[in-house]
Order: sequence, then C-alpha cells, then structure tokens
Amino acid sequence: MRLGNVEIFVVSDGFVRMDGGGMFGVVPRILWEKMLAPDEFNRVKTALNCLIIVTRDKTILVDTGLGAKLTAKQERNFARKGGAKLLTNMARIGFLPHDIDLVINTHLHADHAGGNTYRVGQDILPTFPNAEYWIQRQEFLDAAFPNERTKATYAPDNFIPLERVCMLNGDSQITEEVRTIITPGHTRAHQAVIIESKGEKALFLGDVAGRTIYLEHLAWVPAYDIEPMVSIETKRHIREWAYEENMLLVFQHDAVMTLGRLHKNGKEFKVERVATDL
Ligand SMILES: [Zn+2]
Repeated sequence: MRLGNVEIFVVSDGFVRMDGGGMFGVVPRILWEKMLAPDEFNRVKTALNCLIIVTRDKTILVDTGLGAKLTAKQERNFARKGGAKLLTNMARIGFLPHDIDLVINTHLHADHAGGNTYRVGQDILPTFPNAEYWIQRQEFLDAAFPNERTKATYAPDNFIPLERVCMLNGDSQITEEVRTIITPGHTRAHQAVIIESKGEKALFLGDVAGRTIYLEHLAWVPAYDIEPMVSIETKRHIREWAYEENMLLVFQHDAVMTLGRLHKNGKEFKVERVATDL
C-alpha cells in the first residue's frame, strides 16, 4: 500500500492462540467471549503482524513476530500451524532477509522480537544480517534485567546476540518519513511507529492496542500490560490524536482487522476497516 512517497506492507508471522484471560485482563469472560470466542483451552486467535516500510533509501521492518526458535512444545502451546511464517511471507512479496536495513522493535516481548534472531546449530545469529536493530535503551534494560513477572516473555536469545543495535533514548526520528514515539503502559518504554509522507499518516500501534477493541474501550487492557493505568492514558491520548489526524491504523494482533481508521459517533469511538489487497 502506498502512503505518499512510502510503500508499506503488512507481513504476518502467522496466527497463534493466546490465553483469553491474559488478553483481556479484568474484563469478565462473559463480555469478551461475545466478541472473540475462545477455544477449549480458553485461548483466542491472535495475529502476529509485522510491517515493512520502504522509503526512498531504507527498507525497514517493524517487529519480527515469534520467530523460528520455539521448541515443539512452545509451538504446540501457541498452536501456530506450520511454525514461523515471516520469512516465507516476506519472500512471497519479494523481500529477503538481507534486504532489510533497519529493524525497529516496538518492545522486546517474545511475540514481537522472537524473529530478530535464528538458530544455526549451537549459534544464535541475527536474522537480518545487514540490519541495524533500533531498540529503546530502557526496553533493552528492562528485558535484560527482568523481574519475576516479566521474565517469561523476555528471552535473552531474542536480543543479546544482536551485533548491531542502535539504542534509542525516547522519541526518535528514524528516516525523514518514519519516527517512533514512546507509548508507555504495556511496557515502560514501548514505542509506536508513525509514518508520514505527503500529508498521509499511518500508525503502527504495537501493543498500545493490538486489537481494535482495546482502542474502542479504553478500560480493556491486557493482563500482560505492566502499567495498566498508564496504558489507559496512553490510549486516550493516541486515540484522540489518531482520530484528528485521520491516521491509517495497523493492528498487530487483531485476527479479523489489520488496517482501520477511527470514526466517532457522539462520544463513542469505532474502528472501521480499511480494505487492502495485502
Ligand atoms: Zn504483543
């Protein structure tokens, strides 16, 4: 899809199933199951969308999915049919790993940074050999020194073996058209990605709102969010701004709507689908 001078492609690392309780936090199942029916293990279908942004001089990949380093048991728990998909789906639209100049991680949870690296025998190597990985310094530290609650999702193999890392300190301009902003709540230094060219704007939300429902209902915050009240304030701010700017929104985990735009009906916000041939 074209956005001014920039081309964007949503690329999937497949669909997984994740715990519904984790996804909807304090929201009672009786409410969320009407929108998203869980399976017999209480898991809900979850997309692993990543984004390729092609600017005049850089090819950027935002997030890398779960990747291919999972054990058979982990793949089974996530119920991802056929394992990792990112590289195959990239190849299908003409991108090879060495084409990527920059990788931006919204944060380092395993479902966003798992594909940063891959295993060859005993070694763990960067998946994108020519890429510099742009990661918030605070997120890197939080991932490298996790606490009891956060350590299950921060696998050191996803970021410690990286050779070329650019540590970001807050909001960062990446190219003329691409920048990141700190959007705290899900993690302390989570970053969202904004693409802006010739008056057109897109926002890759990451886990600010992985599903449309999280943006429509501010109180619907996943249990995984480290600072849920901060998430709510971040969403309030981002939602108003994205609405005013008529931004194209990219949803990372929504299994039914990948691209949308905000509409307002009185005080209610609603995300409406944007059709795409991707
Ligand atoms: Zn996520």
